Amino acid sequence: MKIGLPKEIKVKENRVAMTPGGVATLVRRGHQVVVERGAGVGSGLPDADYEQAGATLGSAADAWAQDMVVKVKEPIASEYPYLRDDLLLFTYLHLAADRPLTEALMQSGTTGVAYETVQLDDGSLPLLTPMSEVAGRLSVQAGAYHLQKPVGGRGVLLGGVPGVQPGQVTILGGGVVGTNAAKMAMGLGAKVTILDVSQRRLAYLDDVFFGKLTTMMSSEANLRDLLPDTDLLIGGVLIPGAKAPHLVTRDMLPLMPEGSVIVDVAVDQGGCVETIHATTHTDPTYVVDGIVHYGVANMPGAVPRTSTFALTNATFPYVLMLAEQGAGALEKNQALLLGLNTYRGKLTYAAVGEAFDLPS
Ligand code: NAD
Repeated sequence: MKIGLPKEIKVKENRVAMTPGGVATLVRRGHQVVVERGAGVGSGLPDADYEQAGATLGSAADAWAQDMVVKVKEPIASEYPYLRDDLLLFTYLHLAADRPLTEALMQSGTTGVAYETVQLDDGSLPLLTPMSEVAGRLSVQAGAYHLQKPVGGRGVLLGGVPGVQPGQVTILGGGVVGTNAAKMAMGLGAKVTILDVSQRRLAYLDDVFFGKLTTMMSSEANLRDLLPDTDLLIGGVLIPGAKAPHLVTRDMLPLMPEGSVIVDVAVDQGGCVETIHATTHTDPTYVVDGIVHYGVANMPGAVPRTSTFALTNATFPYVLMLAEQGAGALEKNQALLLGLNTYRGKLTYAAVGEAFDLPS
């Protein structure tokens, strides 16, 4: 198959959808890969490495002209003209939040397979997990930094020092984000409490981290008890397909110490803190009632090199399947079939159709 790897052109997007290692594997199996010049530079992967792996370098149009295009972010308007009926597009699409793109894919007849809806039998989303791992770990780094006095924080060192109490990290949601945040916070020497509504999840965390962290059932009463001692609150709650519930309401902020920090990773689903709104890497925080709020909606973008490798580790087996079997891979692999969002001008993912009242 002929595969194209365009450079990401969304603002501040430095990830790339395939590494030179992935290209080498495809080329070894007889496929051809066209890489847009500069595609990997933001992730520290120079053109020369792709050439050495056997790719041909070209323009954006060259990369988009191939049978299958592998990307990271959904196409933006300037990329719509590249869409066509014999194109297989494999990338994050997030169509339920993007009607113009949904229509562009349908009108062009593009076969659109979305990373975020590829789903395994156990309900997990293997191509979303790596980014939650990155964001969970990063949330503690971001929180620890913003707790420093010169940047408006409380002036607490999360690990403490001998003779001085460590900081308290309270984590809402013990899923992928929460567990990875807990690992980092424990690694720094902070005291960690995780709240979740799933007894099963709490039991798992207790089994794995017994004695190193505290688990608590997520309830308003438990949260109100914890907030006065919390230096860093991390939001990692997800109710699949729904907006995140506001577990921390504005009237609860005065319970927290002045200068404490909230990192609401769930901001991309509306956030689990009432006062959070989306921010950017260039201006990541703002203060409400004396509490520092961090609401960056694309946290993995801060560490594109790590994120590129984490993402491509997860996506590459599916890229290979699609390269070897074309759209036939969708019939053979149920997880991949669930990734199919548009096909021959039709919407093939019910939740997207429902979002726009379009037939699917
Ligand atoms: P997950 O499904 O692995 O975990 C969510 C957890 O929340 C589950 O354990 C669930 O039981 C728990 N939960 C549900 N309701 C709760 C409640 N009322 N109180 C406490 N816990 C509750 O999800 P995840 O992969 O960890 O993702 C969490 C959020 O982070 C998602 O919204 C995801 O989109 C977001 N995210 C954001 C970024 C970013 O850059 N900001 C990056 C990656 C993921």
